[in-house]
Amino acid sequence: TIVLAVETSCDETAAAVIQNGNEILSNIVASQIESHKRFGGVVPEIASRHHVEEITIVIEEAMQQANVSFDDLTAIAVTEGPGLVGALLVGVNAAKALAFAHGIPLVGVHHIAGHIYANRLLTEMKFPLISLVVSGGHTEIVLMREHGSFEVIGETRDDAAGEAYDKVARTLNLPYPGGPHIDRLAHEGEPTIDLPRAWLEEGTYDFSFSGLKSAVINTLHNAEQRGEAIEPADMAASFQQSVIDVLVAKTVKAAEEYQVKQVLLAGGVAANKGLRRELEKAFASFEEMELIIPPLSLCTDNAAMIGAAGTVLYQKGKRSNYAMNANPGLDIESM
Ligand code: ATP
Ligand code: MG
Ligand code: FE
Repeated sequence: TIVLAVETSCDETAAAVIQNGNEILSNIVASQIESHKRFGGVVPEIASRHHVEEITIVIEEAMQQANVSFDDLTAIAVTEGPGLVGALLVGVNAAKALAFAHGIPLVGVHHIAGHIYANRLLTEMKFPLISLVVSGGHTEIVLMREHGSFEVIGETRDDAAGEAYDKVARTLNLPYPGGPHIDRLAHEGEPTIDLPRAWLEEGTYDFSFSGLKSAVINTLHNAEQRGEAIEPADMAASFQQSVIDVLVAKTVKAAEEYQVKQVLLAGGVAANKGLRRELEKAFASFEEMELIIPPLSLCTDNAAMIGAAGTVLYQKGKRSNYAMNANPGLDIESM
């Protein structure tokens, strides 16, 4: 199978060509970060406009680099949700137009399913598995018993991990997106500041990060009022430690409870060096469980992951019709 994949859910215009579900023939990502930076976050109107400008070029480049023609394609996969509606629409319409013009089957893909399937570009998936999904808009533990089946066993009740990183970064006057900056700063500091860990009630795999975010803001504010200086690197290290402690502990517990064969890390925050290291440490002693961590370029938004998920869905018989629409609230369990 050869699948062209398109991803425009947020601020990356991306296209990729994937062979047999796990070979990357091309993977093109046009990032808009520079355009959104001065606003401190993604501006939906600007994102849509950029997608419109970039989409044709990015798809052509992906096809060229892969050295394939539309006649070679088995299917076209596209992110149908969740994400920004105006951004999603650009990818969905481009994919629909190409599928119609060339008579190629169309497969709608859930963006988070894509993040999880980034791991299939590294290795075969073994079930049951859990995936710790940590991204700009999501923080959840997803249980998979087979290909294409997703059960959310825990999720954030307020902010996503990436969102918390970006908000804390802003209070430390770091540029958008703040995650990588906090990550870098955290390694220059010590986690000496006492911050809360939101374990929530016994037995739950849910998360909460808004209390931690508020604690950071309050601690900085109080110190400023008292004329005390807090080392930003120490605050970054303390915040990062609090996030990682909870993410790692809950992931280990879920992996044990569901007796999984694999643990897959997924989403933009999976690029975090501290999180990667601590997960590796935590799972080193579980010989029967395999921890998979994608390279940084497959953690943040890309289309290769959508192609990997799209291929599996295609093989399971999923076909989308031309009535498919961008769905900003798409539910992963309904896939
Ligand atoms: P979603 O996937 O939930 O729709 P999204 O696509 O916007 O959201 P991603 O692109 O998957 O999110 O991830 C972006 C997030 O990852 C941002 O919040 C960013 O700060 C965070 N991030 C990227 N690198 C790192 C890092 N090294 N440490 C922590 N966070 C990081
Ligand atoms: Mg992004
Ligand atoms: Fe994403």
